[in-house]
Amino acid sequence: MRATAAAARRLVSHSPLSSSAFRSPWARHAHAAAQSELSETWSSTRSPSSRTGPQWIFLGCPGVGKGTYASRLAKFLGVPHIAMGDLVRQELSEPTPSGLKLKQLMNEGKLLPDNVILELLAKRLEAGTVAGETGFILDGFPRTRSQVEALDKVTDIELVLNLRLREDVLVMKCLGRRICSGCGTNYNIANIDVGGENGAPRIFMPPLLPPPSCANKLIIRADDTEEVVRARLNFYAEESKPVENYYRAQEKLMDFDVIGGIPETWPKLLDVVRPFMPEESLSVAAA
Ligand SMILES: [Zn+2]
Repeated sequence: MRATAAAARRLVSHSPLSSSAFRSPWARHAHAAAQSELSETWSSTRSPSSRTGPQWIFLGCPGVGKGTYASRLAKFLGVPHIAMGDLVRQELSEPTPSGLKLKQLMNEGKLLPDNVILELLAKRLEAGTVAGETGFILDGFPRTRSQVEALDKVTDIELVLNLRLREDVLVMKCLGRRICSGCGTNYNIANIDVGGENGAPRIFMPPLLPPPSCANKLIIRADDTEEVVRARLNFYAEESKPVENYYRAQEKLMDFDVIGGIPETWPKLLDVVRPFMPEESLSVAAA
């Protein structure tokens, strides 16, 4: 019995969650139970050999266009684009016990604990295995070192693409965002054309202007102020460091500088990932 308790305590002390959450022994037991349940969920997900397609991750700060490129590339390679944000939103929209629990955590303004995030992803990967998916492109995950380690146990990540863009350009881009209050379409009024001197690459991003039917209904999201945008970027830079370092040390991380809009960036992106594409994906892409 002693060994079990010690094991449970070790589990708790290694948990990325703050210790204050586990002051009571009851909470500790509940947490240990959740952890062992979780490793069962993960082990049933473990079938890396059945995945013959790309198992790639997209990293990048908010506003860099990560979702756009991840989704394009996933379509190109014939694998799903698994966006963590979408999984969370989907779970929230369901009136299941776990959906309700998630909603409560969000309402309390809490960050979602690793085990909740991992469980959502494990469920999604398992469903993918059942459906015969050969790989994936992950976006918005992993965010922490412990998530990286959990992911390593059930997948063979081959490539981590780290999308980068100069901070001044990112800020301009975020401040140029507009949404049509009528139809909900996103536009961007920023007209970006910088660099090109002293050997720095020119970055050219033309605006994405609305048609006349939307032009007089444009609104700015409340959190698209310069202060909030910069805070978001700083937070991301700090948060992502351990994840980037981990994959860099494994020589799986590839930095990729976004050089412009989709027409300029997309062909360059394809060129840099092509050597990593599994044969099978190349034929899917060529078809
Ligand atoms: Zn509109």
